[in-house]
Amino acid sequence: MGNRREITRREFFKEAGTAMAFASAAAAGLSSIHSASWGAEGTSKDALVLGAGLSGLAAAYELKKAGFGVTVLEARTRPGGRVLTYRDPFADGLYAEMGAEYVDAADEYDHRYCKEFGLKVMTAKVYDAIFVRGKKYKMSEFKANKEALPFQGTQPGVLFGQEALYLKKLLDQVQNPDQLPEEILKLDNLSVAQLLAEQGAPADVTALYTYLNATESTARPEEMSALSMIKGNLHHSDFSEVQDEGRILGGNDQLPKSFARALSDQILYRKAVRKIAHGTDGVEVWFEEEGKISSIRAPYLVIAIPFKVLRDIEIVPEFSQEKMNCIRTLAYGHVMKLAMQYKTRFWDQSGSLGQRVFTDTKLRRIYHMSLDEPGPRGILMSFTSGEDAEKLGAFDESERLKIAVQEATKVWPEAPEFFEGGATKYWNDDPWIKGSYSFTGVGQERDSLQIAQKPEGRVHFAGEHTSVFRASMNGAIESGVRASSEIISLF
Ligand SMILES: Cc1cc2nc3c(=O)[nH]c(=O)nc-3n(C[C@H](O)[C@H](O)[C@H](O)COP(=O)(O)OP(=O)(O)OC[C@H]3O[C@@H](n4cnc5c(N)ncnc54)[C@H](O)[C@@H]3O)c2cc1C
Repeated sequence: MGNRREITRREFFKEAGTAMAFASAAAAGLSSIHSASWGAEGTSKDALVLGAGLSGLAAAYELKKAGFGVTVLEARTRPGGRVLTYRDPFADGLYAEMGAEYVDAADEYDHRYCKEFGLKVMTAKVYDAIFVRGKKYKMSEFKANKEALPFQGTQPGVLFGQEALYLKKLLDQVQNPDQLPEEILKLDNLSVAQLLAEQGAPADVTALYTYLNATESTARPEEMSALSMIKGNLHHSDFSEVQDEGRILGGNDQLPKSFARALSDQILYRKAVRKIAHGTDGVEVWFEEEGKISSIRAPYLVIAIPFKVLRDIEIVPEFSQEKMNCIRTLAYGHVMKLAMQYKTRFWDQSGSLGQRVFTDTKLRRIYHMSLDEPGPRGILMSFTSGEDAEKLGAFDESERLKIAVQEATKVWPEAPEFFEGGATKYWNDDPWIKGSYSFTGVGQERDSLQIAQKPEGRVHFAGEHTSVFRASMNGAIESGVRASSEIISLF
């Protein structure tokens, strides 16, 4: 790996001075890089990876397998990023996925690496109930009796896909879903809420969408690209009440930990990247640890940190205008997980509405988490997003949990009697992501993916936001494999 040099934090920022001076000092630094020792490095099989989330880990792992010298810089003291399994706050060996949870049957990259590391994927149960506008439905009865939801303009007996009825005229115009006509592509400039209103959908249809697809995207229908909704309907790829989901038996954190174990001392933890310089011969990255700034050089770089964080890091010289714009504006949502430990699993008792429930409460999705633990204790998990996550995020942990138990009581009246404690994670408060995951905002569905993943000289890009399988572990791994193969193919 390339040369390493150290300066103090004070010197780093003194060198930087004002924003203008910083840019020019950095640019001067870059030209010295060119004239310095990069000739040999520029052709060596070495790469630097920023971020030890699944995308960075997969990139480093594949580069190492291909014979590259690889170093990973990670700001935290653990691998995995948004894959985070809490164990300590709970009793009886219970654990809770505070970040990524589900592995779908079709998630080929998740399954491939789970197999490689000897991890088992278990089946999670499907949603068995609905609680909306104070009304309770058991899913089986709701479907069999074709019950109507208390939302005007919706079809009975189905939950997801209510918008399709109002998009029919537009969907009928599409002959080939992979070659969309210009009139359809232009819908990128409208929001989901705008398009549904234009197509005559009652406001209730949009309101329900908030608790369905928009909850998965962690966004509001007013912020989401209408083109993305159209594509979801054309490819039947959207999340729904019949989704076949699984989880890694014993906890999802085992997957990043397995990658990290294989990389071992090639991962440098507690190294917060502050500045990236790149040129025709290679890159130099400055990182901070305990107030000290050091830099490291390499011929190739994979940036596997979220754009929401990358937008606060100096890049010298700036990447292409379209890339910088994408880094600065790509949409990220709001998300919170709330895990509640209960002394007994009342949700399994006869008379209970169910153990996995779609709701329009502040908790949105509420479900039994502890499927691979025998009980009697168990964890009810809430995945909530958008406006509800943002509002809950304003409270401290004990207040959030108080509200969580109150909300769960609406579904299971006996809940407070058995509550023991819990934990929450609001990802927008996390300095190394500052949000949930990427979604395509208005105007971003058409080309943001191609722009996000395109290399800039010797700099390659990984992360869920650069994958066709956006917002997933599967996508994060796919992007890391893709970025590594871009570099490997140069040799
Ligand atoms: C609440 C929640 C629920 C989810 N549910 C699911 C699900 O059910 N199924 C699913 O497949 N996916 C789910 N996801 C999405 C999934 O977690 C992500 O798509 C995936 O883990 C992203 O991996 P990544 O490598 O792209 O980014 P990250 O995991 O965010 O990794 C980026 C890494 O970069 C590091 N970093 C950031 N800034 C710096 C810096 N300046 N210097 C050094 N290092 C830095 C971070 O610490 C982090 O380790 C969920 C995500 C959340 C938040």
